[in-house]
Amino acid sequence: MVMFASYLEDPVAWAEDLVNTYNIVRETEKMPDAAALADLLVTHGIRLDTLPTPRDLEHARALRPALREVFAAPDETTAVTLLNDILAGHRSQPHYTRHDGGPWHLHIADPASPPVDQYAVNAAMGLLAVVTATGTSRLHICVGHRCAEVFVDVSRNQSRRFCSPHICGNRASAAAHRARLRTRNPHQENTG
Ligand SMILES: [Zn+2]
Ligand SMILES: [Zn+2]
Repeated sequence: MVMFASYLEDPVAWAEDLVNTYNIVRETEKMPDAAALADLLVTHGIRLDTLPTPRDLEHARALRPALREVFAAPDETTAVTLLNDILAGHRSQPHYTRHDGGPWHLHIADPASPPVDQYAVNAAMGLLAVVTATGTSRLHICVGHRCAEVFVDVSRNQSRRFCSPHICGNRASAAAHRARLRTRNPHQENTG
């Protein structure tokens, strides 16, 4: 992970952010069109010379289940194999560069390849850095009610169970609180 700390502020976020543009439980599409894809790409620092095409959108959407599979991988060998397959399919090209007044640093995607390919390479490398350093224990699928979004737990004590402590975490503690109240007041079961 140290290898590209200066390149990607948060390398694990690439995979998370793309996978979570679709909620598989609620069937919510958060990347409905090429403009939404352009936002995602630009947010992660990929330069766009032209707007993404419908084909780029299809490609980006197809990457979601492929990356999600890594979060569900039973062991690290499976995860690494899946990620190597993504790398192999998307033209990686390690090279050093500097831009925006910053120092020389490593980029791993071919800057001449389509933007979604560049995204795929960076997303895969971000997860590979985590998996090869610490195994799959940091890759999670949120246990929140009707959520199942993915996240990488980079916290020191690896205690996260929810994609967002503010949303799924709060919802779960509110539900637990209601459950406790019900136990205390068994005759008011339906008021929670
Ligand atoms: Zn850079
Ligand atoms: Zn969640």
